[in-house]
Amino acid sequence: MIIDVHGHTLDLACRRGMPLESSLGGSTDLPLMRTGGVTAQLCPTWTPDAALSGPHAYSVADPLATLLGMLDYLDRELSGRAGEKVAVARTSADVRAAEANGRVALILGMEGTDALRGDPAVLRTLHGRGLRHVCLVHEHGNEFGAASQVWEHGTMRPYDPARDPAVRLSEAGRALIAEMNRLGILVDLTHLVEPAFWEVLAVLEGPVLISHGGVRRNTDSVRYPSDAQIRAVACTGGLIGASPAPLGPSQEQPGLGLLLDTVDALVSLVGVDHVGVGTDFLEDVGYYSAGFADIGEMPQVARGLRERGYGAESIQRVLGGNFLRVFERVAG
Ligand SMILES: [Zn+2]
Repeated sequence: MIIDVHGHTLDLACRRGMPLESSLGGSTDLPLMRTGGVTAQLCPTWTPDAALSGPHAYSVADPLATLLGMLDYLDRELSGRAGEKVAVARTSADVRAAEANGRVALILGMEGTDALRGDPAVLRTLHGRGLRHVCLVHEHGNEFGAASQVWEHGTMRPYDPARDPAVRLSEAGRALIAEMNRLGILVDLTHLVEPAFWEVLAVLEGPVLISHGGVRRNTDSVRYPSDAQIRAVACTGGLIGASPAPLGPSQEQPGLGLLLDTVDALVSLVGVDHVGVGTDFLEDVGYYSAGFADIGEMPQVARGLRERGYGAESIQRVLGGNFLRVFERVAG
């Protein structure tokens, strides 16, 4: 079973305004997932508030309305032809059932919580619509916490502990974590500044995710988790996803090699049981091309891991088994 812990198929389909099961011309879509043998993808919807985010094509005036519109689109699609090929997975059993029925499973999430406008109660509605994952912040901080990147004069720069406030998890952030625990929603701490990361861990129950990116021991960046953070995620029983692309502007060369180097570093720190693959695929065709151009090339990851000496059992865990274990513990 192959699971992409972080991929943007739903964002891309909505943005293109095309049927869910069609080829979307980006680096992830349903036909490509089938080519790559992918069973499931965690789809973190990205609806950044234009008032908070930098100047880019994805920002919207009303993040919640946009998100609900995406869920409506998905419902419409699944009640039609796409429903024979795709299913929303609310539990690990749904993922297994989708695989048994030859469907691709989508696990719904959000990358950044601008749509909540600071109100954790909105999560109840979204959980009812199938949402099972929340990444607290994305390219900017919000009412809940601070991001490891900051928009300034129209450009994005890394959070700088020397000049940016030592932001703590807010009271609303604490309430949000409690609500996620209560509902059974995966907590994703990618993009959160390190001080807030530790505060989340102090109040969180159960396993936590860092769904995508690299590691600080390979590339010294505040966007990446330190060794101590990685060990702490493993202690929760959680998982860190390795990506073929850097988080934010970086000297790193995107591609399969970057992903495999990250996997190696994670395994050397915490063993194979806490490692996954989060592609972060969206559009950007060609950007990742060094050995892993799109999700149809997922078998290249297995090949690369084999060449680096991983056995079949370890590869199965990294490619999907570990995430399924975490998802089962959190969402059932
Ligand atoms: Zn991200």
